[in-house]
Amino acid sequence: MNFKEYPKVELHLHLDCSLSFDVIKKLRPHTTLAEYKKRYVAPSKCSNLLEYISVVNNSVALMQDKESLRLVTQDLVDQLADENVIYAEIRFAPLLHIEKGLTPEEVVETVNDALDSAAKKAGIEAGLILCTLRQYTRDQSMTTIKLVESTIGKSRVIGFDIAADEAGFPLDNHIEAFEYAADKGIPCTAHAGEAKGPESVWDTLKNLKPQRIGHGVRSIEDADLVRHLSKEKIHLEVCVTSNLYTNMYESYEQHPVDKLYRAGVSLSINTDGRGVNETDLTNEYQKLTESFSWDDLRFLICNLEAIKHAFIPDQKKRELREKLLAYPAYNKLAELEDVARRISV
Ligand SMILES: [Zn+2]
Repeated sequence: MNFKEYPKVELHLHLDCSLSFDVIKKLRPHTTLAEYKKRYVAPSKCSNLLEYISVVNNSVALMQDKESLRLVTQDLVDQLADENVIYAEIRFAPLLHIEKGLTPEEVVETVNDALDSAAKKAGIEAGLILCTLRQYTRDQSMTTIKLVESTIGKSRVIGFDIAADEAGFPLDNHIEAFEYAADKGIPCTAHAGEAKGPESVWDTLKNLKPQRIGHGVRSIEDADLVRHLSKEKIHLEVCVTSNLYTNMYESYEQHPVDKLYRAGVSLSINTDGRGVNETDLTNEYQKLTESFSWDDLRFLICNLEAIKHAFIPDQKKRELREKLLAYPAYNKLAELEDVARRISV
């Protein structure tokens, strides 16, 4: 089956993990394909999340001025449009891009403007999630949430996230920023249950109260947690290939995505990064089909769940649903009406 033409939704996608060879050549013209693979693509089995992050840092180093931020953003939108992603939430940490003198505000404005024009040109919908990072101070986290607050509603910025080294740093510095977000009604997601187990997901749910969890797949190790996620309708942004690259699982077959799905947890399929992991959603869907015999019905359900939990107004959600449901492979499903009613906006 070829999923390239299928309409798709992606909620968990890092700008700085998604640099294609094409855009690297624009930023560093003499880069060969071999160098690209060595410097900007993670080994298919990193020793851990930290080794993976060190590869991402090579991309971040290139994204320190307006022109490079523009090029990288446009390039990512081209990649999305090329495989019919109809809606994407792209995330990045603005404070990673101020090494050469840009202000955080300029970073956000540049990425926002580039995304706005590229998305309009490509005819896709897209929003921005601003990330704080685990290693950041309380002040850096507050600066980031205030950047969200000052731009949300008048730009493509739609939410807040915490990313990076889950195992190395506790949540203490970030609780205030997430409380601030809750107070202002700002939608939040948080990386957890990737480098650490279910206790980290519990900790994150209790202290940060996000509406969604980035990854969260190690929740499968705790039956109470799986029940809680399902009951409270907390959405997991699952990134299967990425979890293999960071060496969480040995093979696709060992990944818990299918078990989580069957346990009734709301989840979506995502790449995390398209360059660092050398993947796209077409490949993710293919691997799920090969490993777990996933079919059109499952992909429809995961995409409807993604739209339901997207950080956008209901009217936009309804428009995206229409696009999805009209796609011939989905439209002909006997369960279509049932599923559409069950996973409503
Ligand atoms: Zn991520």
